[in-house]
Amino acid sequence: MTTITSALQAVKDRILAAAAQNGRSAQSVQLLAVSKTFPPAAVREAFLAGQTKFGESYVQEALAKIAELRDLPLEWHFIGPLQSNKTRQVAEHFAWVHSVDRAKIAARLSAARPAELPPLQLCLQVNVSGEASKGGVAPEEAEALAARVASLPRLQLRGLMAIPAPTEDVALQRRQFRIVARLLASLNRRNFHLDTLSMGMSDDMEAAIAEGATIVRIGSAIFGARTYPAKTPPADTQTA
Ligand SMILES: *Cc1c(COP(=O)(O)O)cnc(C)c1O
Repeated sequence: MTTITSALQAVKDRILAAAAQNGRSAQSVQLLAVSKTFPPAAVREAFLAGQTKFGESYVQEALAKIAELRDLPLEWHFIGPLQSNKTRQVAEHFAWVHSVDRAKIAARLSAARPAELPPLQLCLQVNVSGEASKGGVAPEEAEALAARVASLPRLQLRGLMAIPAPTEDVALQRRQFRIVARLLASLNRRNFHLDTLSMGMSDDMEAAIAEGATIVRIGSAIFGARTYPAKTPPADTQTA
């Protein structure tokens, strides 16, 4: 077995154990493999081990990978910060976007979604940690944004996504995920019919599953530690 194959199995085992511990079925938690910074060969390996849903955070990197892997029946999810000038490429090449936090971005995605593709599946990113630097709509503004997004023709609003502040305190992890789960329930009481809670990463998936996550987004536990490409130094400081 390759490293990726065995790591993928270990992640599936963690998901199964966490689901069982919380009285949830195995199928109620989907695994999104986050392949950002990893090469197409790594995605191919994960696919051969049965994984079909992949998450990417950087548009340029993702487009190259998607093109390279177009022979495989993969489902691509965009999970990174999204600028207006990249919305067309995302609308054309992805099945899902998890990181919408502004009506303007949603409107541009809807307008650019090709007619021959199914509606783009969407989650609103919610900022539960209150960190100003983090993306995401404030919980108290989520309903107004949801109403605007739900009215757009080429999008299907599926639920909420969150990236809580990292902490090893499991109780605090759960408290943050619970805010997202309660917000989803309150939107559903207002008839939004949302079925997706995208939350939980390599280090906090158990807490997320305990609080109702339906998609966990797992990168390093499958593919290993990420090394971000270093900025190219100026030519005169480069050594051979
Ligand atoms: C990178 C990333 C992940 C995966 O994080 P790991 O800790 O490597 O599992 C999940 N969600 C988002 C939004 C990410 O950017």
